[in-house]
Amino acid sequence: MPLHNVLSAIDESKVLLQSLHDPLCTTKQIGLDVLRLDLLHPVISGNKWFKLKYYLQDALLEEKPGVVTFGGPYSNHIAATACAAALAGIPSAAIIRGEQPPHLSPTLQDAEQAGMHLEFVARPRYDTGFDRDGVYSINPLFQNYAIIPAGGAGPRGLAGATEILNLVTGNTYTHILCAVGTATMATGLLLASNIDQHIIGVSVVKQPQALATMFPNTIPAEMMSRFTMNTDYHFGGYARKTNTLINFMNVLYMQHQLPTDFVYTGKLLFAVFDLAATDFFPPSAKILVVHSGGLQGNRSLPPGVLKF
Ligand SMILES: *Cc1c(COP(=O)(O)O)cnc(C)c1O
Repeated sequence: MPLHNVLSAIDESKVLLQSLHDPLCTTKQIGLDVLRLDLLHPVISGNKWFKLKYYLQDALLEEKPGVVTFGGPYSNHIAATACAAALAGIPSAAIIRGEQPPHLSPTLQDAEQAGMHLEFVARPRYDTGFDRDGVYSINPLFQNYAIIPAGGAGPRGLAGATEILNLVTGNTYTHILCAVGTATMATGLLLASNIDQHIIGVSVVKQPQALATMFPNTIPAEMMSRFTMNTDYHFGGYARKTNTLINFMNVLYMQHQLPTDFVYTGKLLFAVFDLAATDFFPPSAKILVVHSGGLQGNRSLPPGVLKF
C-alpha cells in the first residue's frame, strides 16, 4: 500500500516539544511549550501532513488516477501535496491562483520537479471556486481525479487534524494556541482537546470564517465555549507583514532558535508573547503553541530579511 511510503518518510518522533525559557514566562509565571510540527518533514511540513493524509489514503483506496488541489504560488499546501503524492506514487495536479508568471516561484518549481502538473487560473475566476465540472473544464485529464480542497480543508482534513495532539504526551496544558487560515487545524485541536482546556486560534486573515459555519453540526456547544478566535494579529491580512513582525521573528530566532514563517507562525508567536505581556494568561497557565510549519513560504521574502 503506497501510503506506507509517505508514512515512513514522516517520522513523528522528530516532532519535539520545545520549552521557551523566556524572562517573560518567569515574570508572568507561565509555562510556554512549542510543538515543533515544522520538524516533521522538510517539505511535507507541519499541519499540512495531518490535513492531507486521509485525502491521499482515500484516493489510493479508491484507486483514483490522481489528485488535484488548489493554492497560491507560495502555498505550503501545494508544496506538501506535490511531495506527498510523489512519495505515495499517485499523480498530482494543482490549479494555481493567478496568471502563469514568466518565472515560477520556488514553491511551484519544487512542485513541478516533484511531478505535479500545474494549471494557472487568473482572478477573479479562481476566487469563484471550482466544483467537479469546473475542475474538469480546466483540464479533461482531471476527470476522475480525487479533489482535495484548498489547504487540505474539509472533513478528511479535519479528521487528520484531530490527531495532532496525539504527539503530545502528558497533555496538561491550560491553553493551546494555533494559527488560523481555514480553521481546519483549530477545529481539529478543539475536538481533540480536554474539557478543561482553552483553544485560541490566532487568525492570519482579517475576517476568518466562524468555526460553526466551516463545520456545521460538528462542534458541540460545550466545546465552542472553550474556543476563542483572536483577530488582533493579522498584521494587515493574509501574507501581509510589517517590520515589527519581521524584527520579532529575527529576535525570536536569536533568543530561542525558533524559526517561524511570516504568514502563519510568526504572527502566532507574536500574539502569544503580546498576550502574555498584557496578562491575558493567568499565573500558572501552561501554554502549548502549535508550530504548524510553513517555513518554505519564507522563500518569497528577499534574501537577508530573515537572519535564519
Ligand atoms: C495552512 C497553514 C495554517 C492554517 O491552517 P488551517 O487549518 O487552514 O487553519 C497554519 N500554519 C501553517 C504553517 C500553514 O501552512
